[in-house]
Amino acid sequence: MTSLTQDNTTTTPAKETSSTTGTPGEPTIAVIGAGIAGLSAALAVANGYPDAGLPGQHVTLITKTDLVESNTYHAQGGIAAAIFPDDDPKLHAKDTLAAGAGLCEPKAVDILTREGAEQVRRLIGAGVRFDKHPDGTLLRGLEAAHSRSRVVHAGGDATGKIVELDVSAIARDTPNIHIIEHAFVVDLVTEPIDTHSPAAGEARTAGVTSAVRGVRLFDTATGEQRTLACNRVILATGGAGRLYPFTTNPQVATGDGLAAAWRAGAQVADLEFYQFHPTALGVGEHFLISEAVRGEGATLLNERGERYMTTIDPRAELAPRDVVARENFRQMMAQGGRPVLLDATAIGRKMGLDQAGLTAFLKRRFPTIDAYTRSMGFDWSREPIPVTPAAHYWMGGIRTDVWARTSIRGLYAAGECARTGVQGANRLASNSLLEGLAYGRRAGLAALRDTDAAVWQPQSLLGSAANAQTREITEPQTLAIPSPDTQVDTDAKPADVRDAIEQTMWHGVGVLRDADGLSHAQNRLTGLVEQTQAQAQAALSKMAEKPKTDGTAATTTTPATASVPTPDDIANTVTALENRNLATIGLIAATAALARTESRGAHARTDFPDTDSVQACSRPFIRG
Ligand SMILES: Cc1cc2nc3c(=O)[nH]c(=O)nc-3n(C[C@H](O)[C@H](O)[C@H](O)COP(=O)(O)OP(=O)(O)OC[C@H]3O[C@@H](n4cnc5c(N)ncnc54)[C@H](O)[C@@H]3O)c2cc1C
Repeated sequence: MTSLTQDNTTTTPAKETSSTTGTPGEPTIAVIGAGIAGLSAALAVANGYPDAGLPGQHVTLITKTDLVESNTYHAQGGIAAAIFPDDDPKLHAKDTLAAGAGLCEPKAVDILTREGAEQVRRLIGAGVRFDKHPDGTLLRGLEAAHSRSRVVHAGGDATGKIVELDVSAIARDTPNIHIIEHAFVVDLVTEPIDTHSPAAGEARTAGVTSAVRGVRLFDTATGEQRTLACNRVILATGGAGRLYPFTTNPQVATGDGLAAAWRAGAQVADLEFYQFHPTALGVGEHFLISEAVRGEGATLLNERGERYMTTIDPRAELAPRDVVARENFRQMMAQGGRPVLLDATAIGRKMGLDQAGLTAFLKRRFPTIDAYTRSMGFDWSREPIPVTPAAHYWMGGIRTDVWARTSIRGLYAAGECARTGVQGANRLASNSLLEGLAYGRRAGLAALRDTDAAVWQPQSLLGSAANAQTREITEPQTLAIPSPDTQVDTDAKPADVRDAIEQTMWHGVGVLRDADGLSHAQNRLTGLVEQTQAQAQAALSKMAEKPKTDGTAATTTTPATASVPTPDDIANTVTALENRNLATIGLIAATAALARTESRGAHARTDFPDTDSVQACSRPFIRG
């Protein structure tokens, strides 16, 4: 495999010219997260853009578990890219805007489809093992709402695994990239900008009041804590499916970067939009059961054995994702919350297969799903399997400009944790890996190129469907996050607290929402934020002191008297930190969902079932 070197096909960010005094010398850059966005960012920093006079430099890549564990690793279907002769990035952009239900930012989408296609070509050129025909040409798939067959894939339905393994191997082989695994980023370190100083004019105009100075780390192998000093931080920490009891996301998806950015004062937006996949296995790790199974003829049944989708939509089980997810949710609520059933034996009846024929077909056509369901004790060729809607992808996140800059100077965000404006109110299938590739790279180049005085240049919040009446809330709405409650029982089991967060989100801020449920969730989450803040502080204070070992960037942050941590202490601390993050971002999501009094894209309000054209804009929130 060749290295992913710079190319000369895209622009670099304009060099900032502010006269504000910055740190002398080259920037110190840390990338948090090693999914597709973080890897792309780290490689962009390491390799630079020599044709534009931008040499690469050293970068630290930090991840909270093993290098490859991420949403990226679990992605299945593929990457959408307009790289085939019958396609055009403009067509891809049109499809993306349509899926985004009027909230996409057209300029950001244009960048996504043009530069994303270039980045996919570079992956292919670097030897990433995409699936090919025997003659060496790329295989491609057609997915829902795409007007062209443009989804490239790898390992059949294991695209994310192959891409993550191949690109992380390139990162490991890149000398400029220093990788730190098992380091949990707890918080960002920032310092205020003196906005009264004449030199801070740009920051003042852009509403930027603080600059990043480092990250606080918790070592999940040793329990030690330290601060890594740096003046550029790229957050690429992925999604937060673990807000919900049912999710396709792995355990690392707890919204840590988003919550840390919020606590540091960054703007966030579009958190009311969470995409739920209609069919994940109702037990175990809620493995995603692809639409293709329904495409082959599997039907959905409730506990009484009734096929209900035929009464909901003429397309029955093949109705759009949101329609199927919502009806599955309704059916579950009507049967005490228990999963509905996916009947793959209907495929056999449709295809005229006998038992042996169906068994062989399912194994051949869906090898990964077949293996997983059997490992969970189901023979889906003989009996229906339990399925549930599951949190899959978060459209909202940390608000950025088109160079991934956030409202905090020196802080960048890319991938699923960011809100660039490309996903709008609903993501087009297979566009998220593409976003990580395109905007991860942009974040890396911007961090490299920006001066210490550079600040973001945010786009308008008006969506593509905005009309003359659309209210643009240009001033972010403030939301006060409660302080830690010193009266709460900090000994409550972190696992029980997690369960409370998940249940609150599922029932109040889930597939279907209304004002009563959202208000109740808001109240409950407020209490959970108080509790989890106190628990996180208590857990951290138990951890041992990290001695200053390298004499450079690491400084101790914990009291010397702290006791030596046990493995249980470490595990509980991680859960406590994640709970604090989940409760915090859950509360913001509930608040944003309550404020959006319409249904749009993935946000379905039963009390406001219609889309309100006046609300075709994003609403930013900021910590009060
Ligand atoms: C089952 C499944 C199937 C999918 N299929 C597709 C598909 O076919 N096509 C598609 O385009 N998208 C798909 N998606 C969505 C896509 O995988 C994600 O949106 C995308 O991979 C996100 O990439 P990312 O780099 O932003 O984040 P991630 O890949 O999630 O990476 C996040 C990184 O941040 C690290 N991290 C998190 N918190 C911390 C912390 N506190 N400290 C340090 N490090 C931290 C994690 O360890 C990880 O390395 C799928 C998702 C799932 C779950």
